[in-house]
Amino acid sequence: MSEVESLGTSTVKVDGLFAELDHLQTRFDEALRTASNAEALEQMRLTYLVRKGELAQFFKRLGELEASERPRVGERLNQLKNAFEAAFNEKSAALAKPKDEGDLIDLTLPGIRRRLGARHPLLQVVDEIKSIFVSMGFAIESGPEAELDYYNFEALNLPPDHPSRDMQDTFYLAIPGVESNKYLLRTHTSPVQIRTMEKHQPPVRIIAPGRVFRRDAPDATHSPIFHQCEGLCVDEGISFADLKGTLLTFAQKLFGPDMKIRFRPGFFPFTEPSAEYDFTCTICRGKGCRTCKNTGWIEISGAGMVHPAVYGFVNYDSERYTGYAWGMGADRLAMLKLGVEDIRMFFDNDVRFLRQF
Ligand SMILES: [Zn+2]
Repeated sequence: MSEVESLGTSTVKVDGLFAELDHLQTRFDEALRTASNAEALEQMRLTYLVRKGELAQFFKRLGELEASERPRVGERLNQLKNAFEAAFNEKSAALAKPKDEGDLIDLTLPGIRRRLGARHPLLQVVDEIKSIFVSMGFAIESGPEAELDYYNFEALNLPPDHPSRDMQDTFYLAIPGVESNKYLLRTHTSPVQIRTMEKHQPPVRIIAPGRVFRRDAPDATHSPIFHQCEGLCVDEGISFADLKGTLLTFAQKLFGPDMKIRFRPGFFPFTEPSAEYDFTCTICRGKGCRTCKNTGWIEISGAGMVHPAVYGFVNYDSERYTGYAWGMGADRLAMLKLGVEDIRMFFDNDVRFLRQF
């Protein structure tokens, strides 16, 4: 064989070999592209990459080539081997990823919404009541929930054995070594009025929001714990008209400018004269409905001019000063404001209810 012939034969052989390698690469790339799981990858490894695989067969055929051709073909084979392995490893890593992380964290899933807490609906209304009275010049006062009988009853013109004490079923506190019936859970926030007047000479203008306690059986309108927001105003020349103006302004700020107010005669030992006061029905706005028994009015609470006897307990000059006081059930106002029909809903802590506000 001449040198030319052998060269020519070898060239044809090498060209065919390169064509086969191009074809091998095409098949490998396609198989890699469509491999979608570990089984398919393993099949590829056995087909192309192991010692008896297709690529290895080409290395064996190097011996068939002219010595001068071997480096060129060998270099091409080494390039392919490295490229196959790199592409195979990359795909293996990509397929392994979902198994390790993707099952736990799917970045396309919507996030988990954490619920935020919120102020209790009753306290939201109490806050509104407070801010209305503060805007009218009232200060906010508070006092103890466990109270002395003196402040809860006696200084409010309710001496022991006064029949009006029966109006309020009281929780008395049994304290070892202390005479019975001396301490109690306050039945109203009125003791705060006495404590405030003891400390301050007129003018006094306060509200006393807080919890009170009575031995009532729970039902839709009664709870052994409820909230009051009483008010007191004492100064020179204070009249019943000031009381009416204050409560009317409050009603209109809380429920709307169409609200009206009316007084009916009432009795409380600590006020004289005393009255029950009503607001325009918040449901029918005065037209008449089931809630207001077709009267157009709903009962709110009691009010009146501070009884002169009360001033005697706090050293106020009853000849010089007059004042008014009112009671107010914050729970009742919150029920009307929020459309809640059962007071017990405020104390059940049912988040399905609480989330609605
Ligand atoms: Zn009504």
